[in-house]
Amino acid sequence: MAMASFARRKAFFFSRNASHSSSVDVLKLTFSRGFASSGSDENDVVVIGGGPGGYVAAIKAAQLGLKTTCIEKRGTLGGTCLNVGCIPSKALLHSSHMYHEAKHAFANHGVKFSSVEVDLPAMMAQKDKAVSNLTRGIEGLFKKNKVNYVKGYGKLISPSEVSVDTIDGGNTVVKGKSIIIATGSDVKSLPGITIDEKRIISSTGALALTEIPKKLVVIGAGYIGLEMGSVWGRLGSEVTVVEFAPDIVPTMDAEVRKQFQRSLEKQGMKFKLKTKVVGVDTSGDGVKLTLEPAAGGDQTTLEADVVLVSAGRTPFTSGLGLEKLGVETDKIGRILVNDRFATNVPGIYAIGDVIPGPMLAHKAEEDGVACVEFLAGKTGHVDYDKVPGVVYTHPEVASVGKTEEQVKALGVAYRVGKFPFMANSRAKAIDNAEGIVKILAEKETDKILGVHIMAPNAGELIHEAAIALQYDASSEDIARVCHAHPTMSEAVKEAAMATYDKPIHI
Ligand SMILES: Cc1cc2nc3c(=O)[nH]c(=O)nc-3n(C[C@H](O)[C@H](O)[C@H](O)COP(=O)(O)OP(=O)(O)OC[C@H]3O[C@@H](n4cnc5c(N)ncnc54)[C@H](O)[C@@H]3O)c2cc1C
Repeated sequence: MAMASFARRKAFFFSRNASHSSSVDVLKLTFSRGFASSGSDENDVVVIGGGPGGYVAAIKAAQLGLKTTCIEKRGTLGGTCLNVGCIPSKALLHSSHMYHEAKHAFANHGVKFSSVEVDLPAMMAQKDKAVSNLTRGIEGLFKKNKVNYVKGYGKLISPSEVSVDTIDGGNTVVKGKSIIIATGSDVKSLPGITIDEKRIISSTGALALTEIPKKLVVIGAGYIGLEMGSVWGRLGSEVTVVEFAPDIVPTMDAEVRKQFQRSLEKQGMKFKLKTKVVGVDTSGDGVKLTLEPAAGGDQTTLEADVVLVSAGRTPFTSGLGLEKLGVETDKIGRILVNDRFATNVPGIYAIGDVIPGPMLAHKAEEDGVACVEFLAGKTGHVDYDKVPGVVYTHPEVASVGKTEEQVKALGVAYRVGKFPFMANSRAKAIDNAEGIVKILAEKETDKILGVHIMAPNAGELIHEAAIALQYDASSEDIARVCHAHPTMSEAVKEAAMATYDKPIHI
C-alpha cells in the first residue's frame, strides 16, 4: 500500500514538472524580450564571487545560454569552501583520522607497526594539493562552459555595472543585465579578541598550523570548531571547547547530540558549556583565557598554546557599494532577497552565505542554480527544509528534515524509529559500530519528517533519507526497499521498520 502511494506521488512529481514547463514557456517569452542580446560586450549575467554559490551560478547560467562573467578577488576559484573551508578541512580530517586509526585501531585488525608518526608538512602538502587541483579544475570548467573570468575586487557602481580593481593593479568596468552578489561570508571575530592567526587563530589558521599545539582551546562548539578540534586532537593536542550555549551544535536533534558529545568526550575532547570568555591575555608565551559562567559568577582561567575562535561566520559585503545603491540588508548584514533571489534593487540578485539561510556550500550551490534558472525564464526551486547538514567528525553526524524538538514544537503526533549500529552486521564486521539511525514520521500518515544519523559514513548515508523526504516518502516506503547486505545502509532500513512496525535485528 505504501508502495502504491509512492507511485502515485511519483506520478504527481512528474506532472508537477510538466506543469512547470507551461509556466516556463510563458517566462521564456518574458526572457527573450528582457534579455535580447545587445551585441556589445555587455553580459546577461555578472556574478561577483567565485565560491560554490557564484561559480555554480556562473556555469549554470552559461549552460543556459546566458553570456556570463564571474569576478573573484582571491585569485583562485572555489571561494571559502575550496580554499579555506570544506575541502582543506576534510583533507585534514581524513589524514588525521588515518593517523589515529593507525595508532589506535589497526592492531585490533591484526595490522602492526613498529612506530607511526605524523609528518605535518607532508599532511599539509596533501591538503594543499587537493585544494589546488580542485580550484584549477573550476577554472577548467569556466573555460569549457565559456564563462568569462575576471580576477579582481568588484564594486557595484550601478545596478548594471561593476567596477573591478583587478589583481594585476588595473581597473575595468564589467556590465551586465543582471548582477548576482555571491560574496559569501567571513570569520566572525569576538569582541575583545584579536585574531593574529598565530596564537589566536580562525578556522583559516587552524588549517595551516606549522606545529601541533600542546593545548588547544576552541571557542565555539559549532561544526567547524568540532571538526578542527578533532583534527588537532587526533594529532595529539589536548582540546578544550568553550561554548556559551548549554549544548554543542544547537541545531542537532538533542538525543543524537548527547550521544555525539559522549563520543567526542571518549576521544578526549573536553567541554566547558554555558561558559563565556571574558578576557584574553597574550603577554606571556601562551594564551591565558579568563572564563565566566554564561549566567555570571566566579571567574576561572584556562591556559592554551593556541586558541581557535570559531564563533560563527558573518556575511561578507565589505567594499561592495551596497549602501550607495540602497540594497537592503538585515541587522546582521545579510542581503535580503525574495523567493527569486532578487534584492529590492531591480537587476541585482544575491545567493549563498551572503543571504539568510544555512551557511553551507551545497545550499549556496542550490541557490545559484535556482537563481539563474529564474533569470533564464525557467522555474528555480530550493527546499530549505530539506537541506542536509553533516558534521564530519568521527563518527560523522548527519541530518535532514526536522529534529524531535521541532516536531514536538509543531504539535504534530509522531512516531520514532531507531536502530543502533551495534546491531548492524557491516558495522560489527569492520569494528566501527558506534552510532544510531533515528527516524521521525507523522503518526497518522507515516510521512517521514526528519532523519538523524550518527555513523562513520553518516554524510553519505543521509542522502537516502534526503531523497525520501523530497518525495514525501513514508517510513514504510524506505523499509520496503531492498537494501544490499551487508551495508551500513541496512541500519536506515531497520530504523524505518522500527518507525512503522518492528525491526528484525534487534
Ligand atoms: C573551515 C570551514 C569548513 C567548512 N566546511 C563545510 C562543509 O563541510 N560543508 C559545507 O557545506 N560547508 C562548509 N563550510 C561553509 C562553506 O564554505 C560556505 O557555506 C560556502 O563556501 C558558501 O559559499 P558562497 O559561494 O556563498 O561564499 P564563499 O565560498 O565565501 O565565496 C565567496 C567568494 O566571493 C569572493 N568575494 C567576496 N567579495 C568580493 C568582491 N567584492 N569582489 C570579488 N570577489 C569577492 C570571496 O573571495 C570568495 O571567494 C565550511 C566553512 C569553513 C570556514
